[in-house]
Amino acid sequence: MKLDTFNIICIVWSIVGISSFVLLQFVRAPYGRHIKKGWGPEIPNNLGWVFMELPSFLIILYFTLISSQSNYAYMLSILWLIHYFNRTFIFPFRIRTKKKKIPLAIVLSAIFFNTVNASLNGYYLSVFEQYNSESFLYWNFYLGIILFVAGFLINQISDNYLINLRKPGETGYKIPKKFLFKYISCPNHLGELTQWAGFAIMAWNLPALSFFIWTAANLLPRAAGHHKWYKKHFSNYPEKRKALIPKLW
Ligand code: NDP
Repeated sequence: MKLDTFNIICIVWSIVGISSFVLLQFVRAPYGRHIKKGWGPEIPNNLGWVFMELPSFLIILYFTLISSQSNYAYMLSILWLIHYFNRTFIFPFRIRTKKKKIPLAIVLSAIFFNTVNASLNGYYLSVFEQYNSESFLYWNFYLGIILFVAGFLINQISDNYLINLRKPGETGYKIPKKFLFKYISCPNHLGELTQWAGFAIMAWNLPALSFFIWTAANLLPRAAGHHKWYKKHFSNYPEKRKALIPKLW
């Protein structure tokens, strides 16, 4: 495939991502606290997470193993794999969602979006990349790696804190009060967005930008939905707390 054709595919895929953002303004993705009946067959929640995230891990692993990437592309692949190793093999077995389900339709749509995003990124990093040792000296590497690491830590700390709000066996919800939760309802989503913004800045290519667009398309409406849900279900929810961006939104 030529790079021009590949870039057109990435642009079209980004437009699909933006369309899904528009759709998610009207339909709340029905998993976790937003689950509701009428979305067809369901499977155990933690198994759903494994299936949803597995393509992202396996596809990048495949491209990393079959090609001889530059050190810079290799570093990008490793960062991706670290994130998705946690999301696929650790996170699903730590969450306390015993007996909770997730609609198969959500799992299948996430498998699709993860497969396309990982394939585009893996293909680029195997076939088109032209990074060299100087790539580690450019501003976008420094800015990107700082954002990626900061976002990763914020995401991990926040998810970890949320998971531990429940004692083993509990499945209800409590008001989170520590860390960035003092200012916003969804620091885990903010961390994830920051992380993939950092990745896109480091990678500086269309598939990474497209993946960031898809992440934002999923997480901005989800953060808005969580924030609204908290305010509806807890009369004592802190009034000044915002959804995703301290003091702003
Ligand atoms: P949530 O914040 O809804 O939930 C995270 C975990 O904590 C769940 O097990 C949830 O239980 C539990 N939990 C959440 N809030 C509370 C609370 N107040 N009291 C007790 N337990 C709580 O995260 P998401 O499901 O939206 O996302 C999980 C991870 O996946 C995040 O890191 C997110 O960034 C990432 N993600 C990435 C996407 C992408 O496009 N890249 C898309 C979606 C998520 P329960 O499931 O029962 O609600």
